[in-house]
Order: sequence, then structure tokens, then C-alpha cells
Amino acid sequence: MAARTFRHSVQAVLSVQRAWRTFPLRALVPNAEGVDERKPTGGYRRMASAAGKPNLDFDDYRRCYKNKSLAELIRALVLFRLCSSDLLVNNSLQILTGARLCCRGFQGSHSRERPEVTQNGIRPLLGVPLEETLGEQSRDNSEYDNNLQTIRHCITFATELEDKFPMVHLKLTALLPAEICWTLSKLYPTATQSPAFVEVLAGVLHGRQQLRVDGLSDEDTKVLNDGLVRITSMCKLAEEVGVIIMVDAEYTYLNPALNAMSLAMMLAYNATRPLIFYTYQNYLKAAYSNLECDIDFARTHGVCFGAKLVRGAYINTERKLAGSRGYPDPVHATPGETTEMYSKSMDKMMDMIVKHPGKFATIIASHNEETTQRGLDRMEALGMTYDDGSVFFGQVFGMCEHVTAALGNCERGCLVFNALPYGSVEETLAYLSRRAVENKEALKGTRRDRRMMWQAVKDRITLF
Ligand SMILES: Cc1cc2nc3c(=O)[nH]c(=O)nc-3n(C[C@H](O)[C@H](O)[C@H](O)COP(=O)(O)OP(=O)(O)OC[C@H]3O[C@@H](n4cnc5c(N)ncnc54)[C@H](O)[C@@H]3O)c2cc1C
Repeated sequence: MAARTFRHSVQAVLSVQRAWRTFPLRALVPNAEGVDERKPTGGYRRMASAAGKPNLDFDDYRRCYKNKSLAELIRALVLFRLCSSDLLVNNSLQILTGARLCCRGFQGSHSRERPEVTQNGIRPLLGVPLEETLGEQSRDNSEYDNNLQTIRHCITFATELEDKFPMVHLKLTALLPAEICWTLSKLYPTATQSPAFVEVLAGVLHGRQQLRVDGLSDEDTKVLNDGLVRITSMCKLAEEVGVIIMVDAEYTYLNPALNAMSLAMMLAYNATRPLIFYTYQNYLKAAYSNLECDIDFARTHGVCFGAKLVRGAYINTERKLAGSRGYPDPVHATPGETTEMYSKSMDKMMDMIVKHPGKFATIIASHNEETTQRGLDRMEALGMTYDDGSVFFGQVFGMCEHVTAALGNCERGCLVFNALPYGSVEETLAYLSRRAVENKEALKGTRRDRRMMWQAVKDRITLF
């Protein structure tokens, strides 16, 4: 049974890897200041910034694509092109499902192969592609219970792939209804201003307390309690096997509850190390103040703190909702402001890591060159250690491989992770399709990696 599960898991990851590789959701989009338009020159070069510090080499297409065949490069280029079509992206689930049926004959032959993402110094960050949004509530608990089983398998599998810093990221709406998160978010819009609420949640997660939440009906209390029991099961396993859990941030109408539950998880499981991370979406105007409040909260309660720093994936929905419901847009007006807040959050986390060694950790989850370089420079300026597990870098597998490659090739030995969905192929395709629709605009941008891929293809064709 265990062997079958393992085989199934590897197959799923490999299938998903193929899906990712053949369906890159986004790639480099010009940052606020515009991308560096240097022509790819190829070959490994150690680059120097104005200050004389070694810079990441984002142009090294030969190293970046050295493990890719010509066919894979051409396929990726074709798919980049297809992804710029609204029609195709909007119907991506049907297309991917169809493509999978056509390709079924190719699957399953490498079931014990170590996924490529774990080679070449790039580490896996397994993501469970299960989530729920309002209106999708499951009629019974079995779906959430099944999701819990998938998450538990994923946690165990993470330990088989990565021995030093195994980690997974997931959405709490896989374990309890989005509906209850929405209700809680309305009741407690700022977790740190309701410490008693977070402490009650933590007490339940510890198994020391009965759940009682002011303003919640008996029925909702039971639903929440069931969800907390599942979260406890997940956290206990993660603690036992030492797997970091990164809780994803979702839509702003659910985030206050996700934030409160993540803080409660930190109170219950971050006593000795940052095992639980919460996500801060820096496209939100409130991101930095939330981060500061949460850090203070963790310090007041004497626990460790982990932060996943992202720009954010739901910009169009957030703006549409704010417009249609008449509340102020929660998202920064410009990408430049988002970048500024990202930098501020990164600085804050790094300062805390330096001041309180072992108590704080962060992952710079970004494909943005400027942000990545800035993070590395900041580490250098603060004299930080690159491989002690306090700062990680993360990109989605198959997206902006040149950023991952530049980090992987960097001589400073930083810890680079690629997010890789884990689960059945059906679940994963649905997840990929949602991400594609959400990141539609980004897919159309000018991309350095597309240019670099062309360069690599031309090089190889010339060699023939
Ligand atoms: C490991 C990992 C985990 C992640 N987890 C989460 C998560 O939990 N929750 C979540 O929401 N996302 C998550 N993401 C997704 C992440 O937020 C996206 O990668 C992000 O949207 C892209 O930002 P970037 O820093 O990679 O790239 P960039 O290329 O710099 O930015 C992408 C786009 O955002 C646009 N943009 C940003 N701010 C604004 C603005 N104010 N106005 C207009 N446009 C703007 C830019 O113009 C650009 O088109 C995760 C990503 C990774 C790699």
C-alpha cells in the first residue's frame, strides 16, 4: 500500500512537472523600472554591480537551458505564444484535460525517477493544488477529509525529496469551507486586534481547549472545529517529520481568517523554530503593516515567525470586487508601489532574522529580477549566512527559469526552491488552469526568458 502510494505520488509529480513544463503560466514581466534590455550573451560570467558586488547573471541562457532538449525548448516557446491568447487561457482546463488524454501513453514509465527539480541544487517546494472559493462549498466533510489525506501524503513525500529543508505550501480552504473563513473574516477583520480569538484557536490546535467563538452559530462552530481538527492533524505530522508548512494567502475577503489561523498555528507549533509560515501579498496596501503587527504578535507570545513574501496573484479579482462593491481598492495603484512595499517587507524580515537568529525565517517567492537581486544584496550587506535556512528563494517551476538558474549558479550558495504542484493530475490541471486565468495579463508581457529561449534554440540549430 505504502509503495503504491509512493509510486502514485511520484507519478503525479512527474506528470505535473510535464504539465508545468508544457504550460508555463507566466514569465518575466517588466518591473516598474523596466527590464534590463541587455542582449543575452551566453556563457558563464561573474558580473559586478556598481558597488563591486557580484551580481546574479540573468542572461546566462546556456547554463539556464543546458538540461533542456531542443524539442523541449521549442515546445515551451510555442506554449508561451499560445498563452498570450485569451481564448486559449480561458479554456485551458478543457484543453489541458484533452491534451492529457492524448498523452496518456507517455505517462508512468519513470515512476521511481527522482524529479528533475530536485537536481542541480534546486530544491522542491511541493504545493497542494486544492482550494475552495465562495460558492464551491462541499456538501459533506469527506472532501476536506480526502484533502487532508493528500496533504499528509504530500508532507511525507516532501521528506523523501529534500532532507535539509523539506517544505510544502497549501491553502487552508482545502481543509475547511471558504464560507466559514468569510464569516470569521467579517467577525475578526484584523487577527492581531483580537488576540483572544487567535489564542482560542491555538488552544484548540493544541488540543487543550474547547472551541467557543463569540458571534458564531453552533453549526458554524462545529464546521470550524472540524477544520481545526484537520489542521491539527496536518501540523502534528509536519512537526513530527520536520516539514515547513507555508500557508498561502488568498482573496482579501478570506485572508483575515487565514491570517488568524496561521498565527494560531504559529502559537501552537513555532515554539522552537519557524515551522509555520504565513504569506504576505505585497500588492496589498496593508501588507507591510500586517507583517509588522504579526511580527509583534509572535514576539509578544514568544514564538518563532515565518513569512512567505509574494506580490500577489489575485489583482484583477481584487480590483473588480472593490469596484463593484464600492470599497477602496486594496491593491497599490502601481507596480512600483508594490515593489517598494516588497522591498520594505524583505528588509524588515532580514533585520529580524539578524536580530533574533533562529527565530525568524522568510522565503522571497518572486520571479522578479530586481527583487531577487535586492534580496541577495541585502543579505550581503547584513553579513547574513546564505544556507542556514533563514532565507529561501522560490519560483514556480517552469516560470522564469533564468531567475532560478541565476540563483542556483550563484556562488553564494543560497537556498533556491521551485514550487511544484502535488496531487492527482485532475486536481493539478484544474489548479494550473485557475492560475493561468488569474495571471492572464502577466502572460502577455515582454519576457527575457522567451528571448533567451530563442537564443538557445538558434544556437543549437546553428550547431547542426
Ligand atoms: C513559491 C510561491 C508561492 C506563492 N504563493 C502565493 C500566495 O500564497 N498567494 C498569492 O497571492 N500569490 C502567491 N504566489 C504568486 C505570486 O504572488 C506571483 O508570483 C506574483 O503575482 C508575481 O510576482 P513576481 O514577484 O513573481 O513578479 P513580477 O513579474 O514582478 O510581477 C508580476 C505582475 O504583477 C503586476 N503588479 C504588481 N503590483 C501591481 C500593481 N499594484 N498594479 C498593477 N500591476 C501590478 C506587475 O506589473 C506584473 O505584471 C506565489 C508564488 C510563488 C513563486
